[in-house]
Amino acid sequence: QAHLDRIAAVDGDVHAFLHVNAGALDAAADIDRRRAAGEDLGPVAGVPLAIKDVLVTTDMPSTSGSKILEGYLSPFDATVVARARAAGLVPLGKTNMDEFAMGSSTEHSAYGPTHNPWDLDRIPGGSGGGSAAAVAAFEAPLALGSDTGGSIRQPAHVTGTVGIKPTYGGVSRYGAIALASSLDQVGPVTRTVLDAGLLHDVIGGHDPRDSTSLTDAWPSFADAAREGARGDVLKGLKVGVIAELPDSGFQAGVSGSFRAALAVMEAQGAEIVEISAPHFEYGVAAYYLILPAEASSNLAKFDSVRFGLRTQAVGTVEDVMAATRDAGFGDEVKRRIILGTYALSAGYYDAYYGSAQKVRTLIQRDFDEAFARVDVIATPSAPTTAFRLGEKIDDPLQMYLNDVTTIPANLAGVPGISIPSGLAAEDGLPVGIQFLAPAREDARLYRVGAALE
Ligand code: GLN
Repeated sequence: QAHLDRIAAVDGDVHAFLHVNAGALDAAADIDRRRAAGEDLGPVAGVPLAIKDVLVTTDMPSTSGSKILEGYLSPFDATVVARARAAGLVPLGKTNMDEFAMGSSTEHSAYGPTHNPWDLDRIPGGSGGGSAAAVAAFEAPLALGSDTGGSIRQPAHVTGTVGIKPTYGGVSRYGAIALASSLDQVGPVTRTVLDAGLLHDVIGGHDPRDSTSLTDAWPSFADAAREGARGDVLKGLKVGVIAELPDSGFQAGVSGSFRAALAVMEAQGAEIVEISAPHFEYGVAAYYLILPAEASSNLAKFDSVRFGLRTQAVGTVEDVMAATRDAGFGDEVKRRIILGTYALSAGYYDAYYGSAQKVRTLIQRDFDEAFARVDVIATPSAPTTAFRLGEKIDDPLQMYLNDVTTIPANLAGVPGISIPSGLAAEDGLPVGIQFLAPAREDARLYRVGAALE
């Protein structure tokens, strides 16, 4: 009830939610009944959870921020949602996002932007700005996001929250409306590293319904966070800092906060090691070919027949399909479908998609070489603090360049965390520090994050 009250009080300004769960109080009462009946529900039972609208739910609409799915009700829950319900988490509602998770500001939502609770004239990050803003504004204690190129970590950075992109395959994608299947991962957005670990423990682990789900047995990430909070994990930790990452593209307060965080780590016994990752900076270029290519294929299923919207157009099946996709998709989605189908077309495939895949391999090798020398890599989570609404909306390239530090982790499949590292000196807005670890070493990020928190 307290969270519903908070949503009623502030969400008119913040607009973090697309839909508030009318059944939330009933679900909470049901947790009480299950507990009274002796069911062992675990540590998060009864805690409210905000769910990014990219995750399908049976009792609330799932739009992925698009008009083409307006009012769509899924016949099944995403695996992460089903696991959350089983653990007694109470779905509070569905959060706003850039349409089909394409964007870094939530301004590409077909339902209007979300505002950053720190300054309502600024963006909450994207694509998962709704989840991050809900957590930052105390509308929800925990949220789920998805991260294809930074959509959990960059919103965490600009809202002073914690966001984790798990190892690719560590959390089920079943029921996560696909953007780019080789890059997408679902993960937690919270106010503390321990909270993220508690949520990750609930949603993670093998799912036979996701063909890319890893069969590994995972350690408890909540335990890893508790271990980190007890201290001394920074002692002797080798922290890699990328030599080629150009200082110049970063806002002064972001670089300043990053260097201050490194100094704190060093004072606690960490060793800062300069590493070379020469292909890191080509990540944006490779990603914005690979992502549109996969997205153009994934979005082909919105054909006016199988899901959602169908316009009243008359004519052939193709006429109806074209009219529906024209009316249902926003500009950014259309831009990426055009880019993707172009990059995949005969004659251009090798030059664009093929080259991008080679760059992806080179970035993976950079990571392999770096992780032979260091335990984690540290970067600022994004180049700037929250920019103003409208500032980059007409300049896609500037919007894309905001993802320079987050994208490489998705291309390589490695896990990443963004935790708050303070406020930027010049504008007083939140800044995050990102840590990356080798694939399957998510627990290391929880230990390091909780130690520095
Ligand atoms: N900014 C990235 C993009 O627009 C992030 C996408 C994501 O992680 N969902 O593609």
